[in-house]
Amino acid sequence: MARYLESVCKMCRREGMKLFFKADRCYTDKCAFERRSYAPGQHGQGRGKVSEYALQLREKQKVKRVYGLLESQFKGTFRDADRAKGITGENLVTLLERRLDNAVYRLGFAGSRAESRMMVTHGYIRVNGRKVDIPSFRLKTNDFVEIAEKKKKEERILANIKSAERHPLPEWLSLDKDALKGTVTRLPRRDDTTLPMHEQLIVELYSK
Ligand code: SF4
Repeated sequence: MARYLESVCKMCRREGMKLFFKADRCYTDKCAFERRSYAPGQHGQGRGKVSEYALQLREKQKVKRVYGLLESQFKGTFRDADRAKGITGENLVTLLERRLDNAVYRLGFAGSRAESRMMVTHGYIRVNGRKVDIPSFRLKTNDFVEIAEKKKKEERILANIKSAERHPLPEWLSLDKDALKGTVTRLPRRDDTTLPMHEQLIVELYSK
């Protein structure tokens, strides 16, 4: 599977905000963005006027990186959003949130989206009682997502659930903490994401 090779902390610094790729470390004073909140590189501290295209590109890169997608995967999701009824930008956010790896993270089973993707591909996750090992699997209303029975006692997962108390559970999901089982109560909407996002810039970028 293709991966980003750049340091994830550099991505936060480049995007000018904390993107929470490193679970617990992101909440400590070891966070690279807390120490150096300017872009990496020689010109990181002295950026001049930014063009409209650069703004659109940065926004797309930020959202793509947050959800851990490669360009082709992100473009494919955008195409689906564009084909669907409604507002393309809002559809895009909804489709990204509906990904199985995102839901596993949002339920608190994983400390980061990278970890949740690994858990999905390694067979930790069941959807409606069946193993699903595809991170991009799109959830729908009334689907339930749970940790495989034999993995439920793993210390790492229990620790993740505890740490997840820092994040509010999104309204489109409900969680039974004892059973480690989440349910999609409705499809996610644009305002369900906590990420500051200007999706219209992405729409403009791809419409050129
Ligand atoms: Fe970003 Fe800080 Fe987490 Fe590194 S530690 S991924 S800079 S939020």
